[in-house]
Amino acid sequence: MRFETDAIHAGQEPEPTTGSVIVPIYATSTYAQPAPGKYDLYDYSRTENPTRTAFEAAMAALEGVEEGGGGALSTASGMAATALIAYLLKPGDHVVLPNDAYGGTFRFWAQVVGEQGIEWTVVDQTDPSNVADAIRPSTKVVWVETPTNPLLRIVDIAEVVEASGDALVVVDNTFATTYLQRPLDLGADVVLHSSTKYIGGHSDLIGGVLVSDDQELHERLAFLRNAAGPIPGPFDTFLALRGLKTLGVRMDRHCSNAAAVAEFLDQDDRVARVFYPGLGDHQNHDVAARQMSRFGGMVSFLPAGGTEAAHRVSVDTRLFILAESLGGVESLIEVPAAMTHMSVEGTALEVPPELVRLSVGIEHIDDLLADLDQALG
Ligand code: PLP
Repeated sequence: MRFETDAIHAGQEPEPTTGSVIVPIYATSTYAQPAPGKYDLYDYSRTENPTRTAFEAAMAALEGVEEGGGGALSTASGMAATALIAYLLKPGDHVVLPNDAYGGTFRFWAQVVGEQGIEWTVVDQTDPSNVADAIRPSTKVVWVETPTNPLLRIVDIAEVVEASGDALVVVDNTFATTYLQRPLDLGADVVLHSSTKYIGGHSDLIGGVLVSDDQELHERLAFLRNAAGPIPGPFDTFLALRGLKTLGVRMDRHCSNAAAVAEFLDQDDRVARVFYPGLGDHQNHDVAARQMSRFGGMVSFLPAGGTEAAHRVSVDTRLFILAESLGGVESLIEVPAAMTHMSVEGTALEVPPELVRLSVGIEHIDDLLADLDQALG
C-alpha cells in the first residue's frame, strides 16, 4: 500500500469485539490469563499493549519494515528512545556525534552517557570522510540527525552508512519524518523519531519511536524497553496514532508553507541569512533533493539586526507562538541559543545567539508571511 493508505490502515483493523473503527485506548495494566504463565498476546502493559501494537505496526509499515524483519517500538519520549540506544553500549565503547543536533541529544550523550565511560567524538557529518576518520575499533554507534536541529544541515545518509563500517547508524528522522525520508532504505540500522513533533502533529503529546529492519536488533531493543520501562501511556499512543493518519497531508502543507517563508526571508534585507534545504544555494541542497521527497517544515534565519533583533522578532510575532518544540499544526518561533540549545553553549555544537528557528505550521500562508513582515519591523 502507499504511504497515505498505510498511515490510516496498517495495524488498524476494526476492533473485533465491538467493531470500533478506531483502535481503542486500552487503559489497562494487566490481562486475564487462562492458566498460570499462559496467555495469547498480552500479559502486562509495560511489555505490550494493544494501542501501542497498532501504532507500532503502522510506524513499521511506513518505514518499510516487513513483518518479521524488525519492527517499531514506541517510547515515553524521543529522549527515552535515545536512551534505549545507549543501553546497547558498555564502558569503553565509542559514539560518533554530529556537530549540529537537538541540544538535549548532545546533553544526553555528553553529560549522562559520557559520564558512564562511553566515549564520543563530534564531527561535521556533512562531509562523510570526517565520519570515516572518526571511526575506531570501539565505535559502536554513528548518530545522525538530518536535517539537523536547528541549522538545517543535510547529511548524506547512504555515504555516512558507507563510512561507518560495522557501527550501527542511527538516524534521527524527526525533522523529515517518514513521509519525506526513509533512512532504512538508505542503509541506516535504526530510525528514531520524537513523535512529540510531526507524527503527533498537534503539540499535545510527548513520545518517541525506534524503528529497525533487523529482527535481532529489534528484539534486543524490545527486551531493553521492557527491562527499563520507558513506555508511552495508551492515551498518548492513541494521540500519536491519530496524528499519524494525517501526517502526509499535514507535511505537504508544512513543506509548501516553509518553502514560501524561506523564499520571503531570503529576499528580505532585514534578514542576513536563511537556512532551508530547499533553497538552491543551501550547502547540501543536492543531497536533500536526492534523499528527501520535499524539504520539510523547519526554517532558521539570522536577522540582520543581530541578537537584539532576534529576541525582538520572537516576541513580536502574533501567529508564530514563542515556544519550544516543533511539528504541530500551529506555527512556532524560538531562539535556540536561549531555549532548546542552551546545553550546547561552549561546545562544538554551539549555535549563533541571533539564530531564530521557525516551525512553520499549516495556517494560511498569506497570514504567516504578513505576521513575519510586521514582526521584522
Ligand atoms: N530529536 C530531535 C531532532 C528533537 O528536536 C527533539 C526534541 O526537540 C528530540 C529528539 C527529543 O524528543 P522529546 O522531546 O520527545 O524527548
